[in-house]
Amino acid sequence: MTFHARLAAAGLMLAALGACSPETEKKAEAPAPSPAPAVALAADTYAFRIGQLEAVALRDGSLALPAGNTGASPWANTAEVSALLRASGVTDDTIHLSIQPLLIKDGERVVLIDTGAGGQMGTEGKLQASLRTAGVVPAQVTDILISHAHGDHVGGLVANGALVFPNAVIRMSIPEWTAMQADAELAELVRVITPKVQAFAPGSVVAPSITAVSLDGHTPGHTGYEIAEGGGRLLYIGDALHSSILSVQRPDWRNNWDGDSATAIATRQGLLERGASQRLLIYANHFPFPGLGRIERRDDGFVWTPDPAPAS
Ligand SMILES: [Zn+2]
Repeated sequence: MTFHARLAAAGLMLAALGACSPETEKKAEAPAPSPAPAVALAADTYAFRIGQLEAVALRDGSLALPAGNTGASPWANTAEVSALLRASGVTDDTIHLSIQPLLIKDGERVVLIDTGAGGQMGTEGKLQASLRTAGVVPAQVTDILISHAHGDHVGGLVANGALVFPNAVIRMSIPEWTAMQADAELAELVRVITPKVQAFAPGSVVAPSITAVSLDGHTPGHTGYEIAEGGGRLLYIGDALHSSILSVQRPDWRNNWDGDSATAIATRQGLLERGASQRLLIYANHFPFPGLGRIERRDDGFVWTPDPAPAS
């Protein structure tokens, strides 16, 4: 089964299970002591600053993956997965992945990093409403930065055969764009976005305060984005890490959504090392909303510490 078919199957399963409720999502949050203000989990936007830049986490929706179903969950070692979820104090039968694109206002530029699932895959399709809450209409978005061409990141680019963000340049790495163009399942999407795409060499500066960072392995040109302004710095990690529990505590576990598993594992381990060593502020698209936090060392491994802490 292809990745897209697998996610579609996961979406159907999500519909059957019912969407991730605030209660279950609250349970999935790893409690962590933090002096930062708590964020209300019901909120669909979370505004913060990177230096002087305004940034807003925009909730799009969530995926609920049955942990024991290897057709839906990318982790095939289901017994170990359930045991780790249990040990982390969350429900052991479902893996909850949030989806939250990131908005950055950088002077004249209104930058959106990834576009969510566009209501596909059984997700809630909240991006447009979240954007409105943040005070932005689609025509104001000047730049879209894509981490990679999976449906929960490019699904919001096009609706009813037309561009959702008509004035935005769409940027992604050259290897990702090359792979996207070669994927027959994405032919219609590619046709619509082609006039707007400007692909860049890995590692390029893509906006005044934003630099592309290669995070190899998940897809052919998978890219994170480092935003640095004044004293502020943030790394958007795309799908280098999927689960705030499984990917962080067991980066060595194979994830079947990774196109090149060995490389993706090495990327995860390097990212966790760097994150912990540099106390790097990380934005994780799939971690519990708003997906902001840091990596900390614990015992022989790592844990995720959300910042702000979830409201209790
Ligand atoms: Zn994803």
